[in-house]
Amino acid sequence: MKPILTTTTGSYPIINEPLSTNWQVSVQLAVEAQIEAGIDLLVDGQVRSDIAGLFAPVLGQNKSNGKANDTEVLPHQIKVKITPQAVDSRALIEDYKYAQEVARSKGRTDPSDLKAHITGPVFLAESCRITQDAPYRLPKTLTGDYDVDPDLVYDIADALTSVVREYRAAGAKYIQIDEPSLAYSSKEKMEVTLEALARLVRVDPQATWILHTCGNIQHQFSDLIEKTPPALKVLFIEAAHLREMQNVDEALLSRTQRQIMYGCIPVNTGTLPGTQKLQRELAETVNRLGPKNVFGVSPYCGLRLSTPDHAQQTMHLLTEAARVLG
Ligand SMILES: [Zn+2]
Repeated sequence: MKPILTTTTGSYPIINEPLSTNWQVSVQLAVEAQIEAGIDLLVDGQVRSDIAGLFAPVLGQNKSNGKANDTEVLPHQIKVKITPQAVDSRALIEDYKYAQEVARSKGRTDPSDLKAHITGPVFLAESCRITQDAPYRLPKTLTGDYDVDPDLVYDIADALTSVVREYRAAGAKYIQIDEPSLAYSSKEKMEVTLEALARLVRVDPQATWILHTCGNIQHQFSDLIEKTPPALKVLFIEAAHLREMQNVDEALLSRTQRQIMYGCIPVNTGTLPGTQKLQRELAETVNRLGPKNVFGVSPYCGLRLSTPDHAQQTMHLLTEAARVLG
């Protein structure tokens, strides 16, 4: 039996920001580190920026004044309508392809071994500062219910579809959508989220789609599992919250034909669980959910804020713990 698949959430520690713009060096370090640790499904490390900043060019806002870097303060300053035609995904695809090259040079010959990442449209919309003349409604309050303009979310989702197509053309089989802010979502926000996810996944239902969320999605999970397109096959749950989600079991996952990406190692806490404890937890979880319903295991979240040493220890712990299930 094959051991359970291991992967990371997407980001690798910041190594040479902001002085160097030699991104290839950073991508290479990120990919080599994962291969050294024995990670199965690789990522390019999202080395250029955080997950909001990384997708700023995708929103196509810089063409109106020709300046390349006026998004520095806030990743997404929205001035004009977001359209798929204005999307600039060169940097994303360049890094993805370079990561493939590095992986190949290290003996990883399957180009689909590299997971592509899309920052979710809801999170991107929430990272936007909308200018007065932008064709979107300005957020009303900071504390009210969901107040991001749904049209902004949907336009971002539609723009992201062209990035999806490019990743697929580059050979990506696995596409992960990162929506870190879904925990505690209102009903209204969930409705917008479900529509945005559907627009993305519909572009290419043949891809293996993975949804990453952060924190406690206990109250959002039934919507995600029952109301997203079946092509969004893999849903993420953190170990700390799976314990409380007793309704998530083998029967539910088999009926809905979903799989769980199991986040099993906390990040940014400075400490790591012991190997044996983690192995025991993994075995229990796989037993509870059913082996075929567990897509893979990963840390809770991205490693961007870890040190390279700590990231390496985290990845080693993950692959070592996953090995016992083989
Ligand atoms: Zn996360």
